[in-house]
Amino acid sequence: MAGNVKAVKEPRGWKDLPLAALPYRLSIEYKTGGWRALRPVIDYKKCVRCLLCWLYCPEMAIHWTGEKVVIDYDFCKGCGICAHECPVKAIAMVPESSEG
Ligand code: SF4
Ligand code: SF4
Repeated sequence: MAGNVKAVKEPRGWKDLPLAALPYRLSIEYKTGGWRALRPVIDYKKCVRCLLCWLYCPEMAIHWTGEKVVIDYDFCKGCGICAHECPVKAIAMVPESSEG
């Protein structure tokens, strides 16, 4: 096996990079919500509108309407960071198959 290993040349520019798959369309066209196993659900009675969930969401899937935060389930991947960071525990992660 070791005899088949080729020395890898350090790339000096983009022309040295190997061919690979790249998305060619806007990321907004790839709805990633279908990857989710757990869904964040906001309890608006507990929410104090601190916007920490909006700040921490790595997918930018939480939006501020001017009155409240809302989750865009087309792009939320269900990572749970928003629920972890919410200071008043207003976000529950529920199984995707359940209603809520
Ligand atoms: S679960 Fe993750 S991706 Fe979904 S809204 Fe919360 S922080 Fe964003
Ligand atoms: S982090 Fe919690 S309290 Fe703050 S805006 Fe989000 S849901 Fe509301």
